[in-house]
Amino acid sequence: MTKEMTVRTKKRNEFIDITGEVERIVEESGVNEGICTVFVPHTTAAVTINEKADPNVARDIVNTLEKLVPYRGSYLHAEGNSDAHVKSSLVGASETILVSSGRLILGTWQAVFFCEFDGPRTRRCIVSVNEH
Ligand code: ZN
Repeated sequence: MTKEMTVRTKKRNEFIDITGEVERIVEESGVNEGICTVFVPHTTAAVTINEKADPNVARDIVNTLEKLVPYRGSYLHAEGNSDAHVKSSLVGASETILVSSGRLILGTWQAVFFCEFDGPRTRRCIVSVNEH
C-alpha cells in the first residue's frame, strides 16, 4: 500500500515530527510484518530519524546544517536555494523502517522527521508499506 501525506512547513529550515501519521498509515495498511518506506519527492527537503524526547536535538541538527551549508554562499545554481539542495542530499530522500506486529520498530527516543530546507511550503511525503 502506498499513501501520500501533506506536510505544511512554517520556516525555511525546520524538522517536523511525522511519526504519528506514518504509524496511522501502517495501521491502515493492515501489514503485520514488513517494511515501511518513507520517501520525500522533493529536491530541497528530506527525511531523517532522530531523537524526539529533547526538541533541542532537532534544533541542534538544523543549526549545525545551517552552519555547515550557509544560505548565502558561492553557489552556481541561480535559484538562490543551493543550500537547501545540498542539505537535502546530505540528509537523504528516504528512510526504511521495519514493521513488526503491525507497528513501526523505532527506538524509545526515535521519531521520523520531515526535514524542510526551503520553506515555508506545502510538501508531499509518500509512505509505502509492504508485507514480508
Ligand atoms: Zn533550486
